Amino acid sequence: MNIHEYQAKKVLKSFGVAIQEGKVAKTSEEAVEQARKLTEETGTEWYVVKAQIHAGGRGKGVINETGSHGVVLAKGIDKVADIAKGILGGVLVTKQTGEAGKKVNQILVAQDVYYPGDSEPEEYYMSVLLNRQTGRNIIMYSTEGGMDIESVAENTPHLIFKEEIDPKVGIQGFQARKIAFNLGLSGKAFKEMTKFVTALYNAYVGTDSSMFEINPVLKTSDDKIIAVDAKVNLDDNALYRHKDYADLRDLSEEDPAEVEAGKHDLNFIKLDGNVGCMVNGAGLAMATMDIIKLSGGDPANFLDVGGAANAVTVEAGFRIILQDPNVKAILLNIFGGIVRCDRVASGVVEAYKSIGSINIPVIVRLQGTNAEEGKEIIDNSGLKVHSAITLQEAANLVKEVMA
Ligand code: GDP
Ligand code: MN
Repeated sequence: MNIHEYQAKKVLKSFGVAIQEGKVAKTSEEAVEQARKLTEETGTEWYVVKAQIHAGGRGKGVINETGSHGVVLAKGIDKVADIAKGILGGVLVTKQTGEAGKKVNQILVAQDVYYPGDSEPEEYYMSVLLNRQTGRNIIMYSTEGGMDIESVAENTPHLIFKEEIDPKVGIQGFQARKIAFNLGLSGKAFKEMTKFVTALYNAYVGTDSSMFEINPVLKTSDDKIIAVDAKVNLDDNALYRHKDYADLRDLSEEDPAEVEAGKHDLNFIKLDGNVGCMVNGAGLAMATMDIIKLSGGDPANFLDVGGAANAVTVEAGFRIILQDPNVKAILLNIFGGIVRCDRVASGVVEAYKSIGSINIPVIVRLQGTNAEEGKEIIDNSGLKVHSAITLQEAANLVKEVMA
């Protein structure tokens, strides 16, 4: 699960990670009010106004309607309202959003942390992720922060460092010092960096995250080390251990069909093809997608209905697949192990009748317990449903209906 920058910063702060302070707003009036409060708390007189969307590259991204960038510096509280108006409600297009962009519903009004001082502010890159090969977490970091890390990896790979952490003992003092050293720090900034990276790693483990990306980590002109940006991806499989994170979910940022599927405990991933598929079991779902390809179609989705292929889940699955205008046919492929094929067949007939207007061909392939009875129910239903027993028959039917 992805969360917004302002939420990620709050979570990081609760683990003792130093952050660029800020407050979220939904209107320009609220933005000014938040800026005023921020000045009370931090003394800042300049602010940076940041669009909150689930995508990076906001600084260089542009709001379609106003031409404003997604991250804008306000040199005074009197500038905040206009800047906020230029961002809020608009559609922000960045390298990561695709052409369609993302609507901005909230902004973060943050303190300006690039103020002048004894030294120049410096931007670093830091991320924490899992190395699945070694089963260990990795801290990846670079002196080349603030820019897109893919280009750094391509052009100057020697400027990206990696530190592997043994999960049994966690991050060790010598590792934190090595990281600060490799980033070229000394004195107060060195000490601050060791604290920063230790807290960041502990936050990664403590939140059961699958990815942290802090770009940039900033060394301020007075040698503080703080997170200016924060991308946090929480591991969905661990969310049950963090009930309080449920509030962090922003459904408006997620694919509506996938949200709907989640409500019915269906594993659904939208794809670009034209043949919808509904299958029980992830392995069978993959095989089904292969057979659709082999017969000249292109899967429109991955959908695993799991162990409970009944009338209710089948109907929910149909409704979700039918939302996609690209879908020209649906292949339902069910293996009856514990679930009986005749029950599934009755479920299909019920769902079909209840939805009422399925105008595209539906191919149902039932195999396993009571498969013949299931086929009979489909064939006798009088509905425009094609039934098949073998995968080959199903594939031939897909080819036929797509022709
Ligand atoms: P991203 O473009 O979505 O990655 O958003 P970031 O949060 O990384 O911000 C983009 C850029 O805005 C940063 O790389 C900084 O150069 C700039 N920026 C962020 N905060 C401040 C700030 O407090 N003051 C100034 N002057 N620039 C900032
Ligand atoms: Mn960034």
